[in-house]
Amino acid sequence: MIDTPENKLNMELVPDSVALVGIPFDEYSSFMRGPAKAPSAIRQTLHNGASNLFAENGVNLDAHPLFRDMGDLKLPDGEEAMAAIETAVAHLVEQKARVLSLGGDHAVTFPVVNALSKTYDNLTILHLDAHPDIYDSYDGSRFSHACPFARIMETGRVKRLVQVGIRGMNDEQRRQVDKFGVTCIEMKDYRSQNPIALEGPLYLSVDMDVLDPAYAPGVSHHEPGGMSTRKALRLIQSIRCPIVGADIVEVNPDRDVNGMTAAVAAKFVKEIAGMMIGQGR
Ligand code: MN
Ligand code: MN
Repeated sequence: MIDTPENKLNMELVPDSVALVGIPFDEYSSFMRGPAKAPSAIRQTLHNGASNLFAENGVNLDAHPLFRDMGDLKLPDGEEAMAAIETAVAHLVEQKARVLSLGGDHAVTFPVVNALSKTYDNLTILHLDAHPDIYDSYDGSRFSHACPFARIMETGRVKRLVQVGIRGMNDEQRRQVDKFGVTCIEMKDYRSQNPIALEGPLYLSVDMDVLDPAYAPGVSHHEPGGMSTRKALRLIQSIRCPIVGADIVEVNPDRDVNGMTAAVAAKFVKEIAGMMIGQGR
């Protein structure tokens, strides 16, 4: 059992709960560290009293019996952290919780999805990002935050990967996208009026750099020409299949301006958790 600072992972959960879990891990960031500080920055914004905890669909997360904050995972270093993340998430999935995790860099998505794909057959992943994160290895590391979707697709347990918002893709990444049969909708081709056909169960992975840096400056890799916050919200709110897990990754508080990016991430927490709780009810 992984300890959290508050030992909350041992809390009993009502089936179908949305379990918010912080994964303060940024060892596999290729360019700069910082995302390990994101879970506390996002939580602080969520609870700072500036906004209420209503999602736009009317679900109020404040004291909602299905919304549980499990605190942050306390992790060992390196590859042991990958195993510890998978074990912790698997424990929550066994309790029929739907895990909403806060990275951390995008490397955490591999162990999180591993835990889910061993329970859910035919998982589809909707991945919002400026980058496809599908290199076979990067800077000599196969666990780099530039590689999680190669590791995920190699397992053969995920039915479909749909990427949206990608820009600046190079030849090597394009070969990997083709190799794994990824549906890759680059930002230059994305039209929000064309709905994306998705079949559940769905895992949603949101890298905050899918947004234009004007909306979310607090990320390690600034990639201009991205989505507005509202465009990303519309895409998330248009999902009609069951969301069985989600993550919000790559907030880097060291790069943030007046907490703007943490505020957008906190908004995504509300909207994604609100969607998960509102579905099927
Ligand atoms: Mn990413
Ligand atoms: Mn990215």
